[in-house]
Amino acid sequence: MAFRADLHCHTTCSDGSFTPEEVLILAKERELGGISITDHDNIDAYPAAVIAAQNLGLELISGVELSAMHRGVSVHILAYGFSLHSMAIQSFCTRHQARRSQRMKDLLLLLNKHGMSIEEEDLYASRSSLRGIGRPHLAKALVNKGYVKSTQEAFNRFLGDGKPCYTPGQTFSVEETLSIIKQANGLAIIAHPHLIKQQKIVNDLLAMPFDGLEGYYAQFPLAQNSRWLEVAKQKNWLVLGGSDFHGEAKPTLKLGSSWTPESTFRAVQQLFLENNRTTQEN
Ligand code: AMP
Ligand code: ZN
Ligand code: FE
Ligand code: FE
Repeated sequence: MAFRADLHCHTTCSDGSFTPEEVLILAKERELGGISITDHDNIDAYPAAVIAAQNLGLELISGVELSAMHRGVSVHILAYGFSLHSMAIQSFCTRHQARRSQRMKDLLLLLNKHGMSIEEEDLYASRSSLRGIGRPHLAKALVNKGYVKSTQEAFNRFLGDGKPCYTPGQTFSVEETLSIIKQANGLAIIAHPHLIKQQKIVNDLLAMPFDGLEGYYAQFPLAQNSRWLEVAKQKNWLVLGGSDFHGEAKPTLKLGSSWTPESTFRAVQQLFLENNRTTQEN
């Protein structure tokens, strides 16, 4: 099978249901050659993932999916190739962590006001802290407590953007996120552009200094992708691809169902190896 690199997947370090090791074992089973773990707003999976990748003979590159806000709309930005020792990325993830834990407290208060009692402990599940926890965990807790029948109902009624029990809390702009990624000498990629509903937001993003877009994305047929491939070509941007695998949390997104072409993967990998080498020497 030709070389495939799935550059978009989540683990238990954010809202995926498989541990970093389990994701890499599955990647090996699916005969992927390369992979990047792109948890939401953290790179906590990497110490374990680096070891597992070495043991399995998989080529792993750094990645993270950063939450940003533009004109009140949530935008996901993928960053790749930065050093795992990058202070810029590490401290940005720490700031995201503080933002996310304060936001979670705000969400619990909002739910409480609407008569739904969820405690922080209800969210811990098998973890030791709230680190990496987000809305999908909260949606699950609402199901477990019997307030809603499904996690989708939880989002539709309470937790989705603009719904009565959601507040984004503190937010980071796309511009600031881009500047952090540049500081880390990483690549900034627009995640799943197909999902951005407002053309104005798309136009703004296309005018910003991104390095590429996620042109091959799990759920989308080639007809829909071709528009984005054309945009990338015009701008001389990279086209990356990934499945947005979340394990059982989103069963329709299969690991390895979308991937990045080998030549693009190699370019990102080279940047990653160079960045890792330089920060280790310093
Ligand atoms: P968070 O990062 O905690 O804000 O959670 C964001 C995640 O929640 C997204 O990546 C989606 O997986 C999920 N999500 C957000 N909005 C919805 C929605 N309306 N329906 C289903 N899932 C959603
Ligand atoms: Zn997610
Ligand atoms: Fe996303
Ligand atoms: Fe994702």
